[in-house]
Amino acid sequence: MSSAWTCSHQIGEECELLKKPCDPGDKGCTLYGKAVFSIPENPSNAAVKRREETRREKALREEMESAKFF
Ligand code: SF4
Repeated sequence: MSSAWTCSHQIGEECELLKKPCDPGDKGCTLYGKAVFSIPENPSNAAVKRREETRREKALREEMESAKFF
C-alpha cells in the first residue's frame, strides 16, 4: 500500500529535523499542532485542541471588545 503524503524531512526511517526516527505529530514535527491523528494520544491532537481553544477565546474577546461601543 502506498502513502499519499511524504515528508520532505524524512530520510529513510529518520527525521532530519528531530534527528530520530520519524514519528509524525511528535513535538517538533512539522505536523505538530496542525494535524489530528487517529491515535488519540498523539501529542499533535492536544496541540490542535489548544490552538482551537485559543482561537475561540481570541474571537470571543474581540467580539466582547467591539460590543463595548454599542
Ligand atoms: S517526524 Fe514529522 S517532520 Fe520529521 S520526518 Fe516525520 S513527518 Fe517529517
